[in-house]
Amino acid sequence: MAKGLQKHQERLGAINLLGKDLARRAGRACELCQERNDCRPYDLEPDRPPRLDRLILLCASCRDLLDRPGQTPADHMRFVANHCWSDLPPIQTAVERLLRPLDEGWAKEALDNLAMMQGSADSGD
Ligand SMILES: [Zn+2]
Repeated sequence: MAKGLQKHQERLGAINLLGKDLARRAGRACELCQERNDCRPYDLEPDRPPRLDRLILLCASCRDLLDRPGQTPADHMRFVANHCWSDLPPIQTAVERLLRPLDEGWAKEALDNLAMMQGSADSGD
């Protein structure tokens, strides 16, 4: 238990270290909706070591969207589709997670565009 807690603290420390670069990338605003209040790094892959390209800066309501995918009315998620042309992997991941559960034509179209962007940026990792 204590060991787990220590690991958790180390992880938070590592994310904090990346926070500055993340805030610069994001322009200190939520990377999905541009909200400036209460933005924090959101860990897209909590089971892997924290890396800048697995973190996204999000406001409270966008963090909530990602924590409970598929539970927000589709019409409230339309702004997410604007990011389907993003070439940033963490934003692509977030868009995919948010739109995948939706059964809407515009969401599927956005995911198609996203797949194209991911395909064209395929330079290996
Ligand atoms: Zn937001």
